Amino acid sequence: MEDKNNHNTTSSVISSAPELPEPDVQILTSGGLRIAAHSSILAMVSPVLENIMDRPRKHRTSERVIPILGVPCDAVSAFVGYLYSARCTEEQMEKYGIHLLALSHVYSVTQLKQRCARAVSQRLTIENVVDVLQLARLCDAPDLYLKCMKLVAAHFKSVEQTEGWKFMQDHDPWLELEILQFIDEAESRKKRTRRHRVEQSLYLQLSEAMECLEHICTEGCTTVGPYDVEPAKKRGPCNKYTTCQGVQLLIKHFASCKRRANGGGCSRCKRMWQLLRLHSSICDQPDSCRVPLCRQFKLKAQQQRMGDDALWKLLVRKVLSAKTISSLSLPKRKREEELRETMGGHALRTFRFC
Ligand SMILES: [Zn+2]
Ligand SMILES: [Zn+2]
Ligand SMILES: [Zn+2]
Repeated sequence: MEDKNNHNTTSSVISSAPELPEPDVQILTSGGLRIAAHSSILAMVSPVLENIMDRPRKHRTSERVIPILGVPCDAVSAFVGYLYSARCTEEQMEKYGIHLLALSHVYSVTQLKQRCARAVSQRLTIENVVDVLQLARLCDAPDLYLKCMKLVAAHFKSVEQTEGWKFMQDHDPWLELEILQFIDEAESRKKRTRRHRVEQSLYLQLSEAMECLEHICTEGCTTVGPYDVEPAKKRGPCNKYTTCQGVQLLIKHFASCKRRANGGGCSRCKRMWQLLRLHSSICDQPDSCRVPLCRQFKLKAQQQRMGDDALWKLLVRKVLSAKTISSLSLPKRKREEELRETMGGHALRTFRFC
């Protein structure tokens, strides 16, 4: 019964166009239903139908019949309706979206195809995703294909249980391989990004520690500062205080550690030593720099070719790039201030603790 209704809808679209001549084509659908149509309209909208219409006929007088089989006749009705009106209801999309996608691909109706691909991708479920994936591949719909792949990857355990998956495994092992490869790549992509993020935050921390070291040695912060700079009254914590406090504690330790004095290997002193060396590698104002040992490290590096250490160079480069990234997000005035801070005059490299 429904077939009839939809057929009537299509007919009403067709007959409501007053200037049209009598229909000269019959579209034969799988239910045996025939839809009368105009070859001129079909040819205008679909280049594939135009080709079919241009083929020579056996009998000039006989009416042309175009079979569109393999999809429900209501889907064909909706398709023909679209060819006439360039419109399609949400209800038709809901019910026949995948059929309309196939039809619009086969008959090269580009706008309908795009609309169907979008509509179908909005209605993806665990149950239908494998079927839609196969269709997307057949119909050459890359956006839909990718969306299906992502859904399968995200819910693989559930998708694996569906009828669609089991059928596909039996009939299209290549697609199964394609999906498994996609999942594998997606996972290693995720791992790579995660690792990269962890590394970035590590370099950013080091770069921040560098900034704090310079700021402590130049202007001083809450409890540590250069001995010749008066502590500002009621100086509050700076805006990177978590890191700054850590560096201050490290400096205090470094100044008083007995094991350092004995030439022993205290791990905290070693860290401080590394920070000072890292600073020197990064510092581009060694003559005016107030960070202890900055120039000494530079000289030592020149004499002993310490800089030839490839790993060290890599570390310096990464910290520098992390610094660049973080400084790009600072307002310009702040950057200029920082520059002026590092340009402070010659300094005695001793600290004041309070
Ligand atoms: Zn500070
Ligand atoms: Zn120590
Ligand atoms: Zn320096």
